[in-house]
Amino acid sequence: MDSPSTTLALADTMVLFDWNGTVVLDADRARASLNSVLAARSLGTLNNEEFSQQFRLPMRTMFRDLGVHSLDLDQAEAEWNDQMTQMSTCLRAGTNAALLELSAAGAWLGVVSAASAAAVQFDQRSLSVPSVLDTVDAKVADKVVQLSKHRNRRDRAFYVGDTAYDMRSATAAGYIPIGVAGGYAPEDVLWEAGAVHIVESLREIMAIVSDSADQAASR
Ligand SMILES: [Mg+2]
Repeated sequence: MDSPSTTLALADTMVLFDWNGTVVLDADRARASLNSVLAARSLGTLNNEEFSQQFRLPMRTMFRDLGVHSLDLDQAEAEWNDQMTQMSTCLRAGTNAALLELSAAGAWLGVVSAASAAAVQFDQRSLSVPSVLDTVDAKVADKVVQLSKHRNRRDRAFYVGDTAYDMRSATAAGYIPIGVAGGYAPEDVLWEAGAVHIVESLREIMAIVSDSADQAASR
């Protein structure tokens, strides 16, 4: 017997989020942290445009490409994470509403981030992110591997991120990639990397995943 009133609309959906630049608007903080790591090694500093072009994940790859010695990569990453907890920042528009709405509709929610657990927890606490996340995976070295581990939790899966790496990892792991504007990478880079949607406010995600659910139901 059908009982649609008791079936949550997004019970078959999962939405995972990148953290820095996606949920937390911290490109300025990230650039300052990176420049601190580079300056300590006399490797110069990056302006806004250079940061947008040079920032990439995994972090080790970026540090190496920027001239950090291979034996110094762990230390550089530790310094970066430490710097990231020294400055406060703000949430992307619509974050709290989106998380609460998606959760109430039954979606499985999580974070898959390259940042350290301490850095993510610092942001969660200081920015009062609602406690509706089903999982938080931090210090993720390979997003394709980590996203793939979660993929069979729900039929439909979305990954929201702000870099080309996020978009490509989402696609490779069987997720629909949703890009965000105003993160670390410009929009044209996200489209080119396979973004299917680009949003400014996270609140737009509810309509995107609901449309997708409706389409699936009508098939
Ligand atoms: Mg990011």
